[in-house]
Amino acid sequence: MAMKLVIKGVHVVPMGMSNAFLIEGDDGLTLIDAGFPGKEEVVFGAIRELGRSPDQIKHLIFTHGHPDHIGSAAAIVRKTGARTYLHPLDIPIAESGGPFRPIRAAPGLLGRVLCNLFFHPDERLEPVAIDQPLTAGEILPIAGGIEVIHIPGHCAGQVALLWRPGRMLFAGDVGSNVMGLGDPLGFESLQEGRASQRKLAGLSFDAAGFGHGKPIAREASKRFRNKWGKKQPL
Ligand SMILES: [Zn+2]
Ligand SMILES: [Zn+2]
Repeated sequence: MAMKLVIKGVHVVPMGMSNAFLIEGDDGLTLIDAGFPGKEEVVFGAIRELGRSPDQIKHLIFTHGHPDHIGSAAAIVRKTGARTYLHPLDIPIAESGGPFRPIRAAPGLLGRVLCNLFFHPDERLEPVAIDQPLTAGEILPIAGGIEVIHIPGHCAGQVALLWRPGRMLFAGDVGSNVMGLGDPLGFESLQEGRASQRKLAGLSFDAAGFGHGKPIAREASKRFRNKWGKKQPL
């Protein structure tokens, strides 16, 4: 799967079962999420496709500390020296390399199947040191401004990242867009997860990227509003 432009300045880097995103800013490259373990060469290949070199990744921001989002982080940092960012609730997990907090499958058969297939709380990864804890509501002075929105539920330390210049929301696993907008494979707290989906449905943005499934290039907040704007059944 090749890298694809989502909107001007943002590329999706498909890594098999999950996505990472590259933002091209005046201040270098910012990588959002780091895939399962062993995916670092996919990232470096994508960067070379842009005619750039891996050491131009200056920032590596994680939406949350699950194995499919931080798995290749240590290898990427080793090669690039990128500064790492994660919400404090997930920092101990990244820095120990697991184990992970258990999640319960999302409602429905598909959630149960996917959760059993892909989520193993006892998985161990190469630990990665986090340079900067993320704070809810802050705007990181990176690539023209990235707002941090805390969206627990799927994972207590999950954040969405709103890249202001391109009005693109990186939604992590608040939902997925595999067969249309839907739930992630599981939740630590379904109730908090629903509240986070509703919170994002109340924001205004044009494009959206997900940990899993296709990015949306335009009118994304309308799609969020239609799917999650009203109170959902638990
Ligand atoms: Zn996750
Ligand atoms: Zn994920």
